[in-house]
Amino acid sequence: MSEGIAHANTAQRLERLLEISRNLASTLDLPQLLQKIIQVACELTDSQEASILLYDRTSGDLRFQAVADHQRTDLLNVSVPLETSAAGLVFTKVKPIVIQDATNDPRIYRQIDQKLNFRTQSLLGVPLIVEQEPIGVLEAVNKKSDGNYTEDDLAILETLASQASIAIHNASLLNKLREANTNLRNLDRMKSDFIAIASHELRTPLGLILGHATFLKDTVEDELRDQMEVIIRSAMRLKTIVEDLSAIAHKEEGASRVRLEEFAISSLVEEVVGRYQDFATEKKIHLSFDVPENDPLTISGEREKIDVALSNLVQNAITFTDPNGQIGVKAEKAGDKIKVFVVDTGIGIPEKDIERIFDRFYQVESHLTRKHGGMGLGLSITRAMVELHAGEIWCESKEGTGSLFCFTLPISSPLDSAASKVFTTY
Ligand code: ADP
Repeated sequence: MSEGIAHANTAQRLERLLEISRNLASTLDLPQLLQKIIQVACELTDSQEASILLYDRTSGDLRFQAVADHQRTDLLNVSVPLETSAAGLVFTKVKPIVIQDATNDPRIYRQIDQKLNFRTQSLLGVPLIVEQEPIGVLEAVNKKSDGNYTEDDLAILETLASQASIAIHNASLLNKLREANTNLRNLDRMKSDFIAIASHELRTPLGLILGHATFLKDTVEDELRDQMEVIIRSAMRLKTIVEDLSAIAHKEEGASRVRLEEFAISSLVEEVVGRYQDFATEKKIHLSFDVPENDPLTISGEREKIDVALSNLVQNAITFTDPNGQIGVKAEKAGDKIKVFVVDTGIGIPEKDIERIFDRFYQVESHLTRKHGGMGLGLSITRAMVELHAGEIWCESKEGTGSLFCFTLPISSPLDSAASKVFTTY
C-alpha cells in the first residue's frame, strides 16, 4: 500500500490522512494509538521507519516511546540526549527539522544507528506539543526511493503529531482522573472504616456507663441524683450518635436488612408526632398530623426503620423552626405508594444546599458557627432507611419560608415486585 500512497497525489494522501485520523480517533488505548501513528507516518511520508520520543522529566532526555515492532527490543525506552541529537533540536527549538542528506550531518545521534546497525540517510522531525509546551518528537527517517522529503510530507507529519499530542494529553488526563478517583475511593473507604470501627468500639463502654449510671442513680443520695441524671442524659445522647454511626456503617457494608412485617403508617405517624409533642411545645411550635380516617395505610416493611426515618425529619423540622412556627406531618395513598410529608415554616434551606443535605456529614451551617447540634447524619440515615424499602425521598425548600420533606414507600411487599432486587442486594 505504501508504494501506492508514495506516488499518489496530494488530494489522495490527504483523503487517506483523513480516513486514518477518523480511525485513530476511535482508538482509546494509548500505546496502540501511538503505534498506529508511526505506521501511518511511515506509510504517508514514504519513509523506512518512524518513531515517537517523549521527554522524560526525571532524566532530562528524550526516550523512544513508539517504534517499529522489529526495533522494539533495541529501542523502547532508550534515551536520546537533547544537546546532540536532531530530535533534541526539534524538541528544544519547538520547530520541525528536515535533513535531506544525513550522511555526515553532525545533528544525527549516531549511537542509535550503531546500536541498530542502521544508517540514517534522511530525517524529518516535528515537535509534539501539549498546551503550548513541547512534550516530545515524531520522527520519520529515510525517505524511500532516494527522494527528498517534501512540504506535503512535513504537513502530514505535523498533522499526525497533533493527533499524537492530543492522545497523549487525553491519556495523561485520564490517568490523573483515575488516580484522583482511586484516592477518593481510598479516602471514602477510610472514612467508612473509621465510622464502622468507632461505632463498634464505643458501643460496649457506653453500654456499661449507661447501665452503671442508671443503677447508681437509684442508690445514691437525693442531692447526687440530679448529677446522675446529667450523666445518663449525656450518655443517652452519645448512644444516639453511636446508633446513627452504626446505621450508616451497616448501610455501607451492605449489612442492613429489612425485616418484613405489615404495619400501619397512620399509627406510626401518630406515635412519632406524639413523641415529639413536648419538644415542640417547649419551643412554642404547633405540631400536628393528618392521616386518612378509614385507611391505616398498611405497608410491608420494617416499622423501626421507618420510625427512625420519620423521627429524624420531625426532629429536624422542630430544630430548624423558630417559636410560633407550624409543623405538619401528613400521610396519604398515592397509587401503589404511600407518601409521607413533613412540612415546616422554619428557616428553610438555601437552594445550593438542597441537593447535598442528604449526604453524610453535610450541614448547611458551618461547624464553627452553627447554632444547632447534630452531626449531619440524620438525613442520610433517613434516606438510607427509605431506600432500603425501595422508596424515594426529596426536599423542597425556600430560605426564610420553610421546608417540605417527602418520602414514598411502596405499598405491596417489595419481595413480590421489582423492588425485591433492592432488598436482596442490601
Ligand atoms: P443534623 O443532624 O446536623 O441536623 P441532618 O442530616 O439531619 O443533620 O441535616 C443536615 C442539614 O440539613 C442540617 O444541618 C440543616 O442545615 C439542614 N436541614 C435539615 N432539615 C431541615 C429543615 N427542616 N429546615 C431547615 N434546614 C434543615
